[in-house]
Amino acid sequence: MRGRAVVVGAGIAGLAVARGLVAGGWDVQVRERAGAPPGTGASLGMWPHAVTALERLGLGELVRHGTVVAASGELLRPDGRRLARVEPPGAMRLVGRPDLLSALADSLPDGVVRWGVRTSSVAGLPAADVLVAADGIGSVVRREVFGPATAPRGLGTVAVRGTANLPRPDLSETWGEGRMFGLTARVDGRTNVYACFRGTLAAPAEAADPVALLRRVFAGWHEAVRAAIETLDPASLDVRALQDLRPLPRTTRGNAVLVGDAAHAMAPNLGRGACESLVDAVVLADRLNCAPDVATALRAYDRARRRPTARLVRISRLLNRASTAEHLTGLRDGLLAAAGGVLAVGSRQ
Ligand SMILES: Cc1cc2nc3c(=O)[nH]c(=O)nc-3n(C[C@H](O)[C@H](O)[C@H](O)COP(=O)(O)OP(=O)(O)OC[C@H]3O[C@@H](n4cnc5c(N)ncnc54)[C@H](O)[C@@H]3O)c2cc1C
Repeated sequence: MRGRAVVVGAGIAGLAVARGLVAGGWDVQVRERAGAPPGTGASLGMWPHAVTALERLGLGELVRHGTVVAASGELLRPDGRRLARVEPPGAMRLVGRPDLLSALADSLPDGVVRWGVRTSSVAGLPAADVLVAADGIGSVVRREVFGPATAPRGLGTVAVRGTANLPRPDLSETWGEGRMFGLTARVDGRTNVYACFRGTLAAPAEAADPVALLRRVFAGWHEAVRAAIETLDPASLDVRALQDLRPLPRTTRGNAVLVGDAAHAMAPNLGRGACESLVDAVVLADRLNCAPDVATALRAYDRARRRPTARLVRISRLLNRASTAEHLTGLRDGLLAAAGGVLAVGSRQ
């Protein structure tokens, strides 16, 4: 079918849905509160099924020329000794968030995205056959249509992301007591840094100086961690208390449908949130393009996406806890080391 769609939010999910619907002949309007796509941002891991989704959306050029392959990496102890080797699936790639967002935005005809338009209530939106809520974890559409019980919940951890002015590193994560530190590649040849630690390890005021905070939280850790912290680009730093969403009993109501983090925000530890947003977009656009009516399409989307993403929310939450565990870390590390030295990281959906 074809019709008119209003999409709230021009993040990865909203732009990707718009791309899929425009390709199917829909009349689409995306409403985004920011004035323009972001110019800076971290690397995102793209698992093979997300790479396929990007190709389905016609972004094969970005995959071929705007990403780097994530080769095997290591799980380390704070002193730098190896706990396990990690084998990501063959086609896992890293893409810059701003590159992904601008490739998606550029793939849309002029005028589809209305930048600088904040949605404060569903009642203020233009009439449409389908309303796509792609407004992220704090979705106002979800709160209004699905109720306040769908509010995010805290994970008790804080994440810091940034770019270090160091050449591309080997992929690694270092796990200690209550904290972890990760290094991946960036397309621009520098180093992508992400750290996560229990919220109790930092006072809220410390967020004002993230480098000093990281120096203190990761004091005494191995050389690669210290070098990354000392070369961080201050303008690239992002500090946030992490939250996720309790799995929802439904992702559609009436003609409204949730996609991306608005539907299934998860802890970042599996690196799957943006990947699943792309898959949501492909599945939703496909069902809307092919079904005889909106209700049939939204039911089919909910059937295809709700359970698999709920499972990922749960696993990501567990991994967030395990990687920042404060107790029994000797047992955790012993089990990881006994796993045979190689953790094959699968991408089951
Ligand atoms: C530390 C960290 C690391 C991560 N690493 C990875 C990774 O390696 N791989 C991966 O797949 N995922 C990763 N993720 C997850 C990923 O960032 C998210 O899942 C993804 O950005 C979700 O996209 P989205 O479009 O659904 O939501 P968002 O990115 O939140 O976009 C929502 C958009 O809606 C707009 N908006 C919100 N409210 C309104 C409103 N009222 N009116 C108008 N516009 C509005 C916002 O401005 C924004 O542009 C990571 C997340 C974190 C926090």
